[in-house]
Amino acid sequence: MKMGVLALQGDFAEHVRILEQIGVTAVEVRLPLDLADIDGLIIPGGESTTIGKLAVRFGLMKPIRQLASTKPVWGTCAGAIFLARDARHSQPMLGLMDIAIKRNAFGRQAESFETDIEVPEIFTAEDSRSVHAVFIRAPLIESVGADVKVLARLSDGRIVAARQHNLLATAFHPELTGDDRFHRYFLTLGR
Ligand code: GLN
Repeated sequence: MKMGVLALQGDFAEHVRILEQIGVTAVEVRLPLDLADIDGLIIPGGESTTIGKLAVRFGLMKPIRQLASTKPVWGTCAGAIFLARDARHSQPMLGLMDIAIKRNAFGRQAESFETDIEVPEIFTAEDSRSVHAVFIRAPLIESVGADVKVLARLSDGRIVAARQHNLLATAFHPELTGDDRFHRYFLTLGR
């Protein structure tokens, strides 16, 4: 299996490292031809406006949308914003996932925080029901369409992870915690 990681900006190297740890060949995607032979794509955290502008400049918008019609695509944080239908902000968007997402939703004082969250859809074993989630100037998923399944919420109910068939969005960064279970879960979406 070969998994692509969009490597225009942001923490793509961390995703590459985890994929390699779990025995998956990681392909850094910068140009349309890099998308030719991969089984899915991860869009990393970083700065969604920058990632979007570079994706437009390098002609990646259409080929990524095409890839997403058959293969799994996962966005973490800025990547989740880029995947969304609506970010209430004018910037290049893939518009693939039927979610409305709010950038920098936690404001300035609480720009970054970490917390354990339950993801019952994915992690059911008693001893590992929750994941440690790192939020860095994170977005929130404000609403989801009928086709979208909510995977995780903060304790106050706000949505931080969702899936729409082969598309996955997390407001936090599983690539930063050393816990590879989210990546392993993502690999199953293409099967
Ligand atoms: N605040 C960034 C944005 O709006 C996302 C931050 C991140 O990816 N950690 O694009």
